[in-house]
Amino acid sequence: MKSRYEVEQEELAALLEGEPAFRASQIFDALHQGLKIPSEMTNIPKTLRGQIDELLPPALIERVKLVGDKGMTTKWAFALHDGAIIETVLMEYRNRVTVCVSSQAGCAMNCSFCATGQAGFSRHLTTGEIVEQVITAAREAAPRRLSNVVFMGMGEPLANYNNLTRALRRLSGPVGISARHLTVSTVGMVPAMAKLADERLPVSLAVSLHAANDELRSELVPINKRYPLDVLHAACASYFDKTHRRISFEWALIDSVNDRDQDIEELAEYASSLAAHVNLIPLNPTPGYLVRGSTPERVKAFAQGLEDRGVTVTVRNTRGREIDAACGQLAGSQAVSIRPNA
Ligand code: SAH
Repeated sequence: MKSRYEVEQEELAALLEGEPAFRASQIFDALHQGLKIPSEMTNIPKTLRGQIDELLPPALIERVKLVGDKGMTTKWAFALHDGAIIETVLMEYRNRVTVCVSSQAGCAMNCSFCATGQAGFSRHLTTGEIVEQVITAAREAAPRRLSNVVFMGMGEPLANYNNLTRALRRLSGPVGISARHLTVSTVGMVPAMAKLADERLPVSLAVSLHAANDELRSELVPINKRYPLDVLHAACASYFDKTHRRISFEWALIDSVNDRDQDIEELAEYASSLAAHVNLIPLNPTPGYLVRGSTPERVKAFAQGLEDRGVTVTVRNTRGREIDAACGQLAGSQAVSIRPNA
């Protein structure tokens, strides 16, 4: 059986055989634009509401819900039908509301400093499992409107290409979030980046760079051995040419590892040749990686060094640390052991 947000409108129409033709679009809209669960669909007959609930079961079972940052950050751990655990984080800001979603249960990319990578890979998420994370967060954010979706939760989105792009189309279409407010973050899966550039889906692309020399990057982000920096550079240039969307680079600042003056030079050269934007974030602690994040002073000096070389930089403030919801801290099976009020 397909889950609630797995089905396209035509499949829903087929499931509703015998009902008036307008029902499928009515229910599809109520799910995607109205953010409604069946019992709230008061404009359809009650028996049908019950049937919808059974025909289209939700994919996500809430296991844990934690709130941090004075109510501005919410993290969920959801169990999927096969018991896999994923995490989703909602972050409210003054001028935007962002959800960080998972694209896989676990991750196979094995980045040394990332908790998800340390825990290994379980499976790809379905389109329905991805979309339902966004809908759940949007319901939580109401009456504020969810404005942004970042694929920076668990998993490598471009390794789950078909389900990802179908989710992106659903979010930019029926759910109504503009494509440029959808950000796909990747370790640098070059062939999939090329494919994405050719879709008519002008989403924002973030590349997790973390080092701009091959030796260091291969240590931090092992896929670099397969797609080294010059190959990645060409893929970024081509994405920019084709979509006119500026690439952004993610750089987790790690004390004395990638926050040296040499790193500023290498990154400035790499980023400016692509007119790319740089997002800096101090490394969040994870159990399997014992090096610390850079000090606030070093973060500031690093950002200044890039700006002096003409690179536009944002220093991201960390959200959700106290609820293990910060970047790189999502690790599924761990989450269920967190006690909400501990
Ligand atoms: N697989 C994708 C998306 C998920 S990770 C990717 O790698 O881009 C989202 C971002 O969090 C990536 O930039 C990743 O490198 C970063 N990240 C992982 N672990 C982190 C940590 N411990 N501290 C800070 N950022 C981290």
